[in-house]
Amino acid sequence: MKYRKLGRTDLEVSEIAMGCEGFDGKSQTEVDELIDAMHTAGMNFIDLYTPDPAILKAIGSAIHGRRDAFILQSHICSVYKDGQYKRSRETEEVKEAFFQRLEQMQTDHFEIGMIHYVDSLKDWQLVKQNVLPMVKEWKKQGLIRYIGLSSHNPEAALAALDEIDVLMFSINPCYDLQPGSEDIEKLWADESYEKPLLNMDPSRKKLYEECAARGIGIDVMKAFGGGDLLHADLSEAKVQLTPYECISYALSRPAVAAVMTGSRSIDELRQNAAYEEAPQSQKDYTASLMAMPKISWRGHCMYCGHCAPCPAGINVADVTKLLNLAQVHASIPETVNEHYMALDHHASECIQCRACDGRCPFHVEASMNMKKAAALFGK
Ligand code: SF4
Ligand code: SF4
Repeated sequence: MKYRKLGRTDLEVSEIAMGCEGFDGKSQTEVDELIDAMHTAGMNFIDLYTPDPAILKAIGSAIHGRRDAFILQSHICSVYKDGQYKRSRETEEVKEAFFQRLEQMQTDHFEIGMIHYVDSLKDWQLVKQNVLPMVKEWKKQGLIRYIGLSSHNPEAALAALDEIDVLMFSINPCYDLQPGSEDIEKLWADESYEKPLLNMDPSRKKLYEECAARGIGIDVMKAFGGGDLLHADLSEAKVQLTPYECISYALSRPAVAAVMTGSRSIDELRQNAAYEEAPQSQKDYTASLMAMPKISWRGHCMYCGHCAPCPAGINVADVTKLLNLAQVHASIPETVNEHYMALDHHASECIQCRACDGRCPFHVEASMNMKKAAALFGK
């Protein structure tokens, strides 16, 4: 398993992480077995969103005695009341649910307290007023170590960046084409895919770049579009992607540290974890993206790495990603500069052979980007 630092936190999370949906309807023994399999595979990061408190109790029991082996992301504002789940911004309800969660999970803290499902600016203002002061207090008290926020709307997420350490965001190649909206259904609505779609939505691009520049780590939900992207007939993109292509796509966006997968069986979990050992050819999403009718990423670097190998040893995808992150700011953010300087080879080593240009399926002028990067970073 490979691990990534979650933004500016001190958490090293497994690239392949676990959501709760795979635990649905499982007995305690089955939950124990799934947690054992996670542990064996080196998956250390669990998102605890579930509408069923019995699942939390079962996971709490399964990790008891090995709590330190897991990084827990618990959802704040997700309240279980009168036998039903609901999203709440009522201070007292939210507080009660938070302390219930700690008890259910048999722990005295969560690594990440994730403010649940903020998809509009109006809702963010409400959260800021009713919930955030309390959440900050819990952070001071050590009940949570970092504040997170989950969202599907780039506009709402961007508005919250000043107050959070971690973002949970829905990322896949189809959602990335769609403008921000308060209506989550629009991400997958037929009419949203009727006209030709060109490149990533600017507000999403800005969100990922801002997160990278500010050291806000992203963990990804809905990398498979709720499973629809894995079937050509269900996907609005009309092309079947494999789970590894979806994971690879999400992991190659700026600031992303982990992808939440929802394994329903031990076999599925092992298959997801085996992403790490899979050959690059199985992770390469380029051909699938190119085959999508009415969708084009022409001229936009997708960080796919197809331009390799470079005779000067330059990782063109990494250099281009850092160039794009640096270019949106008046001065280069320190974190971006540090990452650039740490590369084994820099753009100044480019001999302008243009082999990368010829290999880029998205017709990016990669050699030109190397010139720009060398000038901008001075190396
Ligand atoms: S320059 Fe082209 S081939 Fe290279 S990483 Fe970007 S999109 Fe892929
Ligand atoms: S143009 Fe520069 S970056 Fe591209 S392959 Fe040649 S040396 Fe490498």
